Amino acid sequence: MSEVHTVAVVGAGTMGSGIAHVFARSGFQVTLCDVDQRFLDRALTSIRTNLGREAAKGKLPESEIESTLGRIRTTVDPEQMAAAEIALEAAPERFELKSEVFRALDRILPEHAILATNTSSISITKMAALTRRPCQVIGMHFFNPVPVMTLVEVVRGMATSDATFAAVRDLSVRLGKTPVEVNDAPGFVSNRVLMPLINEAAFAIMEGVATAEAVDQVFKLGMAHPMGPLTLADFIGIDVCVDILRVLQEGFGDPKYRPCPLLVRMVDAGWLGRKTGHGFYVYEKQL
Ligand code: NAD
Repeated sequence: MSEVHTVAVVGAGTMGSGIAHVFARSGFQVTLCDVDQRFLDRALTSIRTNLGREAAKGKLPESEIESTLGRIRTTVDPEQMAAAEIALEAAPERFELKSEVFRALDRILPEHAILATNTSSISITKMAALTRRPCQVIGMHFFNPVPVMTLVEVVRGMATSDATFAAVRDLSVRLGKTPVEVNDAPGFVSNRVLMPLINEAAFAIMEGVATAEAVDQVFKLGMAHPMGPLTLADFIGIDVCVDILRVLQEGFGDPKYRPCPLLVRMVDAGWLGRKTGHGFYVYEKQL
């Protein structure tokens, strides 16, 4: 396909706002779409703050903050995405909701456009089958916080064409990211490997093997992880971890992925990690 200039981002939450940020920062025209103008305003405020942080660290000239924000157009009307050459879907992780969004994107966007999803666990092949262009559907899995993390897991569905893969790989490089190619399977590579680690760490806590601090220290000092698995679980969200473990358990039909009962109890208690101020650790400031 020809070089991409215009991008639609669907969902202006944690990930969508970060994705809009990095595209605009790299010179792309971005249409950011959500269901309510309040969410779009909140996203613009957070992008402005994060661009300010980059400027303070000398990573972005102060003068480019306004021009970067000027490349982001917000809308609650999906039809406004009709000129986009690629869509990045970052709506909540629910298949029914994403199906609706994907069907709408398939109807609205030009025939040659690529439909990419930032899903953490839903099958790319299944999403592609909802559209009239399965060979142009792909996973573009960014990591949180998007402006900081350099990895993009580029996930090929069963029908994804080589041309679509090459376009998304090149696009990731233009964003200053490092694309890593993986095939479609539950949890892709990142969550398939990470979630059992977090789950096992939770079992160790539940069985009284060690404290959360001790488990995290083992991984920081012994394996050079910048953050231990329980600190990371709090950052991701305990509810998100449980949801992904259930996707793995169902997708592979293997009980080894069964969420640790402690994680399930924490979700029942509302101890979701940093976002609620309480997870494996207690936080004064909620995210
Ligand atoms: P979020 O809840 O912060 O944001 C989702 C946004 O989508 C909300 O603003 C919501 O109003 C909006 N939305 C809902 N329905 C919509 C619709 N029909 N059209 C347009 N917008 C709609 O969620 P998030 O954490 O940004 O996650 C988004 C996706 O990214 C999920 O698939 C998630 O699995 C994936 N992901 C999340 C992370 C993470 O760390 N949060 C990391 C990698 C991937």
